[in-house]
Amino acid sequence: MARDFEKLLSGFVNRIEESSTLRMAQMARNLKAKGYDVINLSLGEPDFDTPQHIKDAATAALNAGITKYTPVAGLLELNQAIVEKFKRDNNIEWATENIVVSNGSKQSFANVCFALINPGDEVVIFSPYWVSHYEIVKMTGGVPVEVKAGIDQNYKITAQQLEKALSPRTKMLVFSSPCNPTGSVFSKEELEAFAEVLQKYPDVIIVSDEIYEYINFTGNHTSIGSLPSVADRTVTLNGFAKGFAMTGWRIGYMGAPKEIAKACVKFQGQVTSGASSFGQYASSVALRSDLKPTFDMVKAFKKRRDLLISLVKDIKGMKCNKPEGAFYLFPDISAFFGKSYGKTKIKTAEELCEYLLNHAHVALVGGEGFGAPNCLRISYAASDQDIRKAMNRIKEALEELKYT
Ligand code: PMP
Repeated sequence: MARDFEKLLSGFVNRIEESSTLRMAQMARNLKAKGYDVINLSLGEPDFDTPQHIKDAATAALNAGITKYTPVAGLLELNQAIVEKFKRDNNIEWATENIVVSNGSKQSFANVCFALINPGDEVVIFSPYWVSHYEIVKMTGGVPVEVKAGIDQNYKITAQQLEKALSPRTKMLVFSSPCNPTGSVFSKEELEAFAEVLQKYPDVIIVSDEIYEYINFTGNHTSIGSLPSVADRTVTLNGFAKGFAMTGWRIGYMGAPKEIAKACVKFQGQVTSGASSFGQYASSVALRSDLKPTFDMVKAFKKRRDLLISLVKDIKGMKCNKPEGAFYLFPDISAFFGKSYGKTKIKTAEELCEYLLNHAHVALVGGEGFGAPNCLRISYAASDQDIRKAMNRIKEALEELKYT
């Protein structure tokens, strides 16, 4: 007799939402396996390959026998390169004892959440948010407090909104800039306004996810951790996945106050230990090398953003803004809710995405998982040709939707 293993699953795991990005990617793969020409604009990864000199450094590290466990907090070589990087790019002064390297910046975020949040603690999250920020906070028993910004404010929260959301129960504040899913970038002035508001809440820890730091079309990235009034309580997260096209390498890191870094090492030491040794070595080379390959990639992303915006403007009912970073467009598509194809009425962004996957063979992600049910996310980490083809097909499929 087959056993019902689902019945055995823990309440903890059942409370976690399935990742909507990974779900769409799987549906796209299934359709592709059936022979359809599916264009996947659902994933958060550069379509470029890791630069050759970084791959060569990993090969050299393997050949030199850098194949053993590393300290949990990371290879000293990489920790030192990160200290230099924080100083060079971010105007943040950390020592090696403040650095923790992890198996991707997703793990860095999980570390800091499990190290700090007690059940019932409030965590203020700027919305639209990155799916895992919200879900990992929930895993710890923390209470996410969303502060929402719509397309009319370029998806950017104001300092007044932040002030309203903070309370004596707030333990942590979380946001990404450049932002996944909106591509919005906070300027120095905007971050200073947040820092000002936070003066009234000296115990709130700021977690700034800067994984898209380099993919910024304004030419200016400011880290909130560089602002003197909040520098000592800001945890800055970063990693190699996006800026160096190293998603599969699984190397991320944080710079944090010493006690928090130590707590993260304790937690990570029990769940995974140090990240891959040769990956860490190659990552230190990545940080210390010329960033030209990164900036070439950023140039390509900027051109694609402009191309995608021009194509979206041609689609009636899709409302978009002009994001300043990352590689996503986050249009409001609520104008299509209530329209039908055949007997099926589209009521949600996820239903619209499913329709577009099945009818236009383009994979996108509904905004629900990002806290924005009126929107969907289009990743433009794809070739110009695929972007054009995908948007043509989307336009045609959307024109077929009718009020019945
Ligand atoms: N933070 C944000 C905002 C992201 O978009 C992502 C990847 N989608 C991550 C963290 C995770 O990055 P990594 O691959 O380093 O775990």
